[in-house]
Amino acid sequence: MDDPREAVGLALRGLADTLRHHRDLGLRDLTLASVPFPDPADALRLQEQARQGCQLCKLCKSRTNVAFGSGSARARLVVVGEGPGEEEDKQGVPLVGRAGQLLTRMLASVGFDRERDCYIANVVKCRPERNRNPEPDEVAACSPFLMAQIDTVRPVVVLALGNFAAQTLIGTKEGITRLRGKTYSYRSSVLVPTFHPAFLLRNPGQEFKRMAWDDLKLARREYDRLAGSEAR
Ligand code: URA
Repeated sequence: MDDPREAVGLALRGLADTLRHHRDLGLRDLTLASVPFPDPADALRLQEQARQGCQLCKLCKSRTNVAFGSGSARARLVVVGEGPGEEEDKQGVPLVGRAGQLLTRMLASVGFDRERDCYIANVVKCRPERNRNPEPDEVAACSPFLMAQIDTVRPVVVLALGNFAAQTLIGTKEGITRLRGKTYSYRSSVLVPTFHPAFLLRNPGQEFKRMAWDDLKLARREYDRLAGSEAR
């Protein structure tokens, strides 16, 4: 049978016949085997445990702690940064330094509580020395773990902070100034790119702040539209 639609049609007709037969026999209840979906918090804990002592790339030499992820496993918003800095490396938690504190205020400005409403992770989980950009082999080694985090949380919106996160997730070399202000389809979510809060700290110009504010409002609108209509 060449056409897969024909195969699906046949299977559904077979199922319908079976259900009719059961009805005619007087069976009233349909018992479906329960599918054991793991609790997302347990799944994230297991993923985090598995990364302790990770030696998949050379960042294992410069890190103190793996900064895997933080926030709610049931969040509908996932925020993706670049890689841990000094404070994140010390605490083993992403985005808790000055940039992270600005992120917390940016999220709050559109009504998101960082711990309750968000799950936060970086493209790479270990600190590059002197906060250099992660290199392609490091991103390649670590990005499957970011994908697993996003697939576990299944957010409706992914907020990508800065060039690095946006380019990695969208799969482009285009800069953040051109990428931002729009939405992108990303796995089962809508991705909203914006400036990294570390960039906003370095560039206190009002126009960048205004653009970041517009992006956050866009993320909030997408979140309200999608989380509101979602059956979980
Ligand atoms: N700290 C992080 O955890 N991520 C960043 O992207 C920057 C600083």
